[in-house]
Amino acid sequence: MPNYDAILIGTGQSGPALARRLVAVGRKVAIVERKRFGGTCVNNGCTPTKTLIASAYATYLARRAADYGVRIEGSIKVDMKAVKARKDAVVAAFRDGLERSLKTLQGCTVYEGHARFVGEKKIAVNGSDLAADHIFLNVGARAAIPPIPGLDGVPYLTNSSMMEIDFVPSHLVILGGSYVGLEFAQMYRRFGSEVTVIEISPRLIPREDQDVSQAVADFLRDEGIDVRVDSKVVGVEKQGNSIAVKVDLGGAISQVVGTHLLVATGRRPNTDDLGLDKAGIATDTRGYIQVDEQLRTNIPGIWAMGDCNGRGAFTHTSWNDFEIVAANLLDDDRRSVRDRITAYALYTDPPLGRAGMTEAEVRGTNKPALIATRAMENVSRAYEKGETKGFMKILVDRESKQILGASFLGLAGDEVIHCILDLMYAKAPYTVAQRAMHVHPTVSELIPTMIGDLKPLQ
Ligand SMILES: Cc1cc2nc3c(=O)[nH]c(=O)nc-3n(C[C@H](O)[C@H](O)[C@H](O)COP(=O)(O)OP(=O)(O)OC[C@H]3O[C@@H](n4cnc5c(N)ncnc54)[C@H](O)[C@@H]3O)c2cc1C
Repeated sequence: MPNYDAILIGTGQSGPALARRLVAVGRKVAIVERKRFGGTCVNNGCTPTKTLIASAYATYLARRAADYGVRIEGSIKVDMKAVKARKDAVVAAFRDGLERSLKTLQGCTVYEGHARFVGEKKIAVNGSDLAADHIFLNVGARAAIPPIPGLDGVPYLTNSSMMEIDFVPSHLVILGGSYVGLEFAQMYRRFGSEVTVIEISPRLIPREDQDVSQAVADFLRDEGIDVRVDSKVVGVEKQGNSIAVKVDLGGAISQVVGTHLLVATGRRPNTDDLGLDKAGIATDTRGYIQVDEQLRTNIPGIWAMGDCNGRGAFTHTSWNDFEIVAANLLDDDRRSVRDRITAYALYTDPPLGRAGMTEAEVRGTNKPALIATRAMENVSRAYEKGETKGFMKILVDRESKQILGASFLGLAGDEVIHCILDLMYAKAPYTVAQRAMHVHPTVSELIPTMIGDLKPLQ
């Protein structure tokens, strides 16, 4: 039985990076991947969606060309085969680069197959058993399929199978009005599909503040997307070449008939077929591996990183997990998952950049706070670019003057949010940002001005 110092299962965002650190200090390492190198982010998450969103944005801008004084003769046509080919090329470059780098990494053996625990420190893959004192799980998550009557009997899509689409669906019905669903909704609307989004909650992206959800729903509706909230899908059936989705809105049943159905109702961890019971590794009721603040499982010598530990659901949280594990294990640096500040983006156009608490969460603390908002219409760079949808909002603690959170929904919101995030990590008072001189004309230059408008949160 091959013995290693460390086995890493999964080549998502944390496993490969940790493998490199481990071999650099002379450890003998094995890494196992059952499907495609790079996992969700590279193959059917961030990279392909943001590449497709870039094509969708080009389409949108081309249609708006006249707003900028540019005349395009003839109609705007989307060549979905070319759009997909561009996406495939970007994904292949990332995936192949990772695969090559792992397969040529001195001290690291790559196994391709499904790994499963057969003992506490023993893994089976492709019929061979591997053993190691240290095991790192980076197995990720996949689309969760809700138990909707009839769903099994229709050809539905998930974020993974959407990556194979090389045509414009005539009418795409999307179950789920949250982060994944909304990016696909706007993208396909811009490619030319009729799009209906069905969300069970009273509003889209229900974890965000009411004003953010409303603004997102407004600009999606402005683009012609049929957004239905408070709507529970109670059944799905095939009708000829179409798919009929039965929707319950406050007791009244209606039907949405589309040509394609995307299920984007959440994620579940890839831990159900990992043999965790053979190692005695504890999970929560939803299958997420339980870890402490250094990402150690209940079994000494076994760690869980990335989406499978339920502590984050993003590429950057998985990468941060790698940094935390490496720091504790190799650098005698006691980093902890508790030190990180919530941060993420929703890549609609305009995007939403988020840091720290929402306004609702700040209100929930009942601590005195200050708030400032600014409409993107009052940001000169946005005005100049003709992209004035959205607003920025920031919240600070009245006593400590530290920033509690921000939601930037608008041009470059995904980038500008880092001005706030870095101040939060520095635990700096908001007055530091207020006195900073920013570059003109940028969206970021309005942050000091906005901070100057802080008022008590009523
Ligand atoms: C449509 C979509 C868009 C997204 N966009 C963004 C975004 O813009 N920004 C962002 O930060 N996040 C985004 N995310 C989330 C992001 O993709 C994930 O949080 C990130 O990829 C997490 O990676 P991970 O390291 O946990 O594992 P993953 O990337 O999921 O990798 C896990 C790997 O483990 C392998 N594996 C699983 N089980 C086994 C086994 N038993 N044996 C061997 N191998 C196994 C899998 O094949 C996979 O390759 C998006 C997700 C989706 C679905």
